Amino acid sequence: MISQEWVKFLKKQYPAPKKRFQSLEAYRDSFIYFRLKHKNSVEWPCIHCAGRGGYRDPNDCDPVEGYKLAPLYKCKGCKGTGSGPRKDVQKLHRETIDKWKKEKEHWKETREKVLKAMNKLKADDLELLRGLFNNPTFL
Ligand SMILES: [Zn+2]
Repeated sequence: MISQEWVKFLKKQYPAPKKRFQSLEAYRDSFIYFRLKHKNSVEWPCIHCAGRGGYRDPNDCDPVEGYKLAPLYKCKGCKGTGSGPRKDVQKLHRETIDKWKKEKEHWKETREKVLKAMNKLKADDLELLRGLFNNPTFL
């Protein structure tokens, strides 16, 4: 049986995937261009241009200056307003949450397998592993 010290150590080394956006509003705030242009707005960003209202064309930029002086083409999704329907943002947020849930489930399953495997090891084998974990150039 591995010690609680090991369990804590593994949790610290391989933390569970974090939920990135706690709420739909927090997710909306991650659309930086939209947030800068629409402070305290009740509107929702256009998901096609991330609320910017337009896009840069990779075929229409300077080879040296890049996108610095490149024109901003009007977004066809929002006609340049940068706003879009709430349901589109909701759908993307839902996909983000579902992806996180899958990652967390995978993490949990893998962690259980590792703990189960480590529980089969003898004390001196665990010590050997400790040396490896604490020093990547151990070998
Ligand atoms: Zn747009």
